[in-house]
Amino acid sequence: MRTDIHRESKLKPEDYEFIGDIVPMPKYQEGGLDALKSWLAWRAETEQLLTTHGVEIHTGRNRCDHCGAWFDWGYLLSHTPSGKVLCVGNVCADTRFSMSNLDFKRKQAAKVRAQVRHRRGLFAKLWTWAHDHPEELKVLNRWSKTNDFLQSLRSQLRRNGTLSDNQVSCILAAGERAEEWETKRKAISSKAILSEYQGEVGERIVIQAEVQMVRGLESFSAYDAAPRYITKLVDSDDNVYIQYGAWIGDKGDTVNGKATVKKHSEYDGCKQTVVQRFLHTKAK
Ligand SMILES: [Zn+2]
Repeated sequence: MRTDIHRESKLKPEDYEFIGDIVPMPKYQEGGLDALKSWLAWRAETEQLLTTHGVEIHTGRNRCDHCGAWFDWGYLLSHTPSGKVLCVGNVCADTRFSMSNLDFKRKQAAKVRAQVRHRRGLFAKLWTWAHDHPEELKVLNRWSKTNDFLQSLRSQLRRNGTLSDNQVSCILAAGERAEEWETKRKAISSKAILSEYQGEVGERIVIQAEVQMVRGLESFSAYDAAPRYITKLVDSDDNVYIQYGAWIGDKGDTVNGKATVKKHSEYDGCKQTVVQRFLHTKAK
């Protein structure tokens, strides 16, 4: 409890003026990185103000300087006679500081009205922009989750209600590029459906293929000291081979050799020929 000039028994609500809000950190989903950045900038300013004029006896910032309770939403109140600044939680601000402080209430209401006006203004701007740029808007919405550049333009549009001419002129081309990448990406993954089973189980087959992936395997038994690897290979006809056992090459190496077909199995829609005892004649 306070014992200084701000103590409960001496409190004169009319001596305090509302000068700002203390708001919780926005969640990333609520406004993205921009909201987070502007919150951090705001907090730095608040910190500065409190360092210079603050009178916290509790930890301040997230704790009410009047009663010590933790709060999510609070207010910065300036003590007019001394010029000092207090962080006060919303409950105390409403019940202790505003009883006769009409000015505080008026400012609160004015702030809400300004926010509403701002939102209405923003909405009108956005509506006009959408009306003038239907194609661009389609592209922004289409790529808002997968393309960083278009995503950032879209969030700027949401924040400001408009974009610069330069930014607008980039959108359609960026959308086309994103479309091309997407087509390529799909083509690469659809190659997997071209893979066919090779050889018969138990047969030794000749393989010439490129190593696409190598990963070390945990040794299955303690007596099995030699390291084991899973290697994924793809030949020039897009057939996929999986080899368990010794290391046969690094990613990107072309290997030639003979291996025994252990089994045929499908994984994620891709027919894979699982082989063992790969003896390679040459590794690039
Ligand atoms: Zn309080």
